[in-house]
Amino acid sequence: MSQNELIKEKMTATFVVSTQLPTKFGTFLLHGFDCGGSENLALTYGDIQGHEPVLVRIHSECLTGDALYSLRCDCGKQLEAAMAAIIQEGCGVILYLRQEGRGIGLLNKLRAYALQDKGRDTVDANLELGFPADARDYRICKPILDHLGVKRIRLMTNNPQKIDALNQLGFQVVERVPHRVGACINNERYLATKTERFGHLL
Ligand SMILES: [Zn+2]
Repeated sequence: MSQNELIKEKMTATFVVSTQLPTKFGTFLLHGFDCGGSENLALTYGDIQGHEPVLVRIHSECLTGDALYSLRCDCGKQLEAAMAAIIQEGCGVILYLRQEGRGIGLLNKLRAYALQDKGRDTVDANLELGFPADARDYRICKPILDHLGVKRIRLMTNNPQKIDALNQLGFQVVERVPHRVGACINNERYLATKTERFGHLL
């Protein structure tokens, strides 16, 4: 199935609940969505509808990076930087998508890590396990951002594929806000692979 056909296939997200989430950066609203088989989250801060274009970060879940302080990747630092940037802006949205390990799942990501311990890069490790290099799917952004009333976006990203995906879903990405954080000796090769093999703008 081509990317365009994939985009046409609609995904649904049923809004379930909103609650306050005090964090070390400030107090966000946390919104929960039932996406039929997966549960996804949006963090918002400020008056979204009165503040277009909206600063948005699309974050894919990374348990090791987000919660276990892993330095194998830059996910935890990226999430923190996005939360801080949105508080500073006074308004914004973080979509927290439950597509762990670029969409291959937590245990498969750990299997890929074990291959990387033996010298593979992130792409070759995924391919060796029979997965695509990047299995993430951004279609679920559509019903969630629609629910939040977002149309025009300033996207915090280094990943041109995310911009393409949002444009194809009918949003207007009016600006790319570079999101460079978290480089260290442990993730040097991971970040180099992002640039060389995924075309990220680091
Ligand atoms: Zn990560």
